[in-house]
Amino acid sequence: MRYDLIVLGAGAAGLMAAAQLPRKRILVVEHNVRPAAKIEISGGGRCNITNRHLSVGEYLGDPDFIRTVLARFDNDDLLRFLNRHGLEPVVRKKDQFFCQESSRELVDLFLKASEHADFSYETNIVSAGKSEDGFVVETSRGRFFGRHLLVATGGLSYASIGATGIGYDIAESFGHTVVPPRPALVGLTLQPEEGWMKSLSGLSMPVEISVGRRRFSDEMLFAHRGISGPAVLDASLFWNRGKITIDFLPGVKLRTLLKHPKRTAVSQIPLPRRFVQAFFDTQNLPNVPYAAMTEKQKQRLSYLKSYAFAPAGTFGYTKAEVTKGGVATDMIDPETMQSRLVEGLFFAGEVVDVTGRLGGYNFQWAFSSAVVAAKSI
Ligand SMILES: Cc1cc2nc3c(=O)[nH]c(=O)nc-3n(C[C@H](O)[C@H](O)[C@H](O)COP(=O)(O)OP(=O)(O)OC[C@H]3O[C@@H](n4cnc5c(N)ncnc54)[C@H](O)[C@@H]3O)c2cc1C
Repeated sequence: MRYDLIVLGAGAAGLMAAAQLPRKRILVVEHNVRPAAKIEISGGGRCNITNRHLSVGEYLGDPDFIRTVLARFDNDDLLRFLNRHGLEPVVRKKDQFFCQESSRELVDLFLKASEHADFSYETNIVSAGKSEDGFVVETSRGRFFGRHLLVATGGLSYASIGATGIGYDIAESFGHTVVPPRPALVGLTLQPEEGWMKSLSGLSMPVEISVGRRRFSDEMLFAHRGISGPAVLDASLFWNRGKITIDFLPGVKLRTLLKHPKRTAVSQIPLPRRFVQAFFDTQNLPNVPYAAMTEKQKQRLSYLKSYAFAPAGTFGYTKAEVTKGGVATDMIDPETMQSRLVEGLFFAGEVVDVTGRLGGYNFQWAFSSAVVAAKSI
């Protein structure tokens, strides 16, 4: 049989696209036994679907491209779509919308909304090419033919639940450029000089991290392998190489804080004692009042407000929530998500070179780009 549309990948983007096209003959190809493995495990099992505040600034990628796509299907449109299908997401943390009880609610919604489509599970996509009047997809279960092709195979993060780079291969085989993929929303590993932070494994505290001109205020977790937690994950999206700066005392002025002339600096710093001790040790600072410190010591103490260092790398794809990079957007039309090189070829979701911050922005992107593609198919 020849389909109107073959969707590659039964993840967030693929399912949303199928759900939008009830009158089309659709085949969704997926190598897992079930759809939407990432929706299931996301947001601590409750899936952070979207965010009350949606703006281009929450994304890494071409702002004009992203703006055009989001304007066609934004967070309000998504919530209306979910409500229409009986799902009422709730705001839990910092304006983030989650499923009420379990991510399963969202997966079930999509399965119901795409009942008209054929699903080929346990089917590994091998390649895709042009046929006479559309596309041919080579899989472990043979060839499928479709008039349109939507590549929604996601990124490289979490191979353990199905991620592969097949979408990039297919895009390149059609002449598209792929911006080199990298792990993102991921913990950062440390150089040996930053070993003192590893000794604080398990400790979490609010910080402000600067990467270039961007600042991220949230919790940071000291981990065995390096640093993690929401502030670090967000920062990792914009970090490639080079230094980041951590303010361990956001919103506090050191001089005001340490004004007591007789009390030691250590006793006046409102941070976990373990941290303060490790910091003083690594900076070779004496346990004396601030006023009794030499100018050099005061300078070293000021690193509490601006600790600059170059992370060694990231925790990698096994821990990364997303993959940045992907199919370059210059050869995709943001009004349709159609390739500018091959008619009938569409892209949606994480496979594209658009990546969001923590907070529901990646599912919103997957859904927005899928709806834009579906509307023009
Ligand atoms: C642990 C974790 C938690 C997350 N939490 C959140 C969150 O709360 N909020 C948020 O916005 N984002 C979250 N994300 C990111 C979000 O899950 C992704 O950005 C989103 O799923 C991307 O959707 P997609 O449809 O593009 O790709 P995916 O959902 O990854 O779907 C791609 C599909 O293609 C299939 N596939 C891949 N290769 C092949 C092949 N060769 N043959 C056949 N099938 C193939 C995969 O099995 C998969 O089903 C999280 C990610 C992880 C890993």
